[in-house]
Amino acid sequence: MANTLYDALYGGHADNAAPFLHLPDGGTISYAAFVGRAAQFAHALTDLGLAPGDRVALQLPKLPDTLALMAGCTQAGLIFLPLNTGYTADELAYFVEDSGARVFVCAPDSADALAPMAKGAGVRLLTLGATGGTLQGRADAAPDSFATVTRGPDDLAAFLYTSGTTGRSKGAMLSHDNLLSNARTLVDHWRFSQGDTLLHALPIFHTHGLFVGTNVTLLAGGSMIFLPGFDIDAMIAHMPRATALMGVPTFYTRLLDDDRFDGELTAKMRVFISGSAPLLAETHRRFEDRTGHRILERYGMTETNMNTSNPYEGDRRAGTVGLPLPGVELKICDPETGDVVPVGETGVIEVRGPNVFKGYWQMPEKTAGELREDGFFITGDLATQDADGYVTIVGRAKDLIISGGYNVYPKELEDLLDRQPGVLESAVVGAPHPDFGETPVAFLVPEGDGPDIAAIEATVRDRLARYKHPARYAVIDALPRNTMGKVQKAALRNRAAEG
Ligand code: ATP
Ligand code: MG
Repeated sequence: MANTLYDALYGGHADNAAPFLHLPDGGTISYAAFVGRAAQFAHALTDLGLAPGDRVALQLPKLPDTLALMAGCTQAGLIFLPLNTGYTADELAYFVEDSGARVFVCAPDSADALAPMAKGAGVRLLTLGATGGTLQGRADAAPDSFATVTRGPDDLAAFLYTSGTTGRSKGAMLSHDNLLSNARTLVDHWRFSQGDTLLHALPIFHTHGLFVGTNVTLLAGGSMIFLPGFDIDAMIAHMPRATALMGVPTFYTRLLDDDRFDGELTAKMRVFISGSAPLLAETHRRFEDRTGHRILERYGMTETNMNTSNPYEGDRRAGTVGLPLPGVELKICDPETGDVVPVGETGVIEVRGPNVFKGYWQMPEKTAGELREDGFFITGDLATQDADGYVTIVGRAKDLIISGGYNVYPKELEDLLDRQPGVLESAVVGAPHPDFGETPVAFLVPEGDGPDIAAIEATVRDRLARYKHPARYAVIDALPRNTMGKVQKAALRNRAAEG
């Protein structure tokens, strides 16, 4: 029977003896073995009484069985929701209750601590770990083939909660076709094939490592070097066997910080892809100088998968996120009126296409506010698009500072501050101001002898209009970042408001 996502990603590999996962200990898992394991999880879950459309929440370490569990959910018509491994019991309670999950799967060593949360949320707790767990015990005893449950393109495959950078995380409802159509586009656009080996060091609870990295590999029939996380020594050790890397910008800056990372080490690599947070144009240039490779930056989000990408062949422009992907319509709109702005002017990115989600779970008002009736999704990201179609993100609408009625784009200031001596990096946020409503405040992370604030103030006065001048500068050890490398501006705004 037909199951849109399962058939395309997994079903066709049932007899495929080729490797799917290369593990850090030298072992491999073939496609056929993986598909069999997924079927065992499909049995284990349905044997618990779960029926198509039920939700399965998971907060799990990055293990092959974690992927097989999600594949098993898809085969059984269940909706899975992978959760950030950093979430505490209190945070998990929200996701588990909000999603109405019937089963919650966690690591065996968290089970005791999370049992009260599971009880409170009325969800059944099972475990999965590197050396086994209660769900794996059930899967081990189950047959390795399962009668795939019929699911169509518009049926839901996953709830993926947004990263919570701008507020409370929202559960994005993603359909089989949302995921499949985007994976197909990316395989084609980035030329993935059976011959590819992806160096996979991203988490698998986020769209980047899961729906981009993993689904692209599955669809292409390539393999992944499946690392538990980013460890510089492991990255260097495995790089010569890989053909592709997908990373957040901090992966690239950390690689560049290591002298072992050079052109020779990356000689067999076909493509380096970056996303999830802005890649500095300077990092792009340093990367090319060191390795000869031009990083391919793309832009996406939980709700839409990938929207734009620099070209594979053609001009990969540093500081831009490239062009709308095939099948994705993109426009830059005035935030007030929704009208398309003239070429080169700043506005909010809106996108439409088969990649755009079905709405936020149990948030009809939020869905109505961000997903237009004509299908365009208001991303909340501010950008410009040039005459060639290249999109440059200038920040998030929520981070825009309005000072005395003038728009201050934090990125313009940050770009200038980042270039000043003694500054490693910077972040600018708005702080309340009695006359202007808001005023910019700059946070600087020092490098070497640290910044000379008076000299920086003079440079800023020289280069930028007065309303853009930060009212204060604060030197801090590091910018607060989440696991995807996103700067937590809300935390900085709180600090700035405290004075
Ligand atoms: P929340 O929606 O809960 O506030 P979030 O938007 O950070 O969190 P994600 O869906 O993980 O959650 O992230 C999507 C956002 O990441 C995009 O809206 C955009 O702001 C940012 N982003 C992704 N890729 C890039 C990129 N290449 N350059 C700049 N920003 C990017
Ligand atoms: Mg978002």
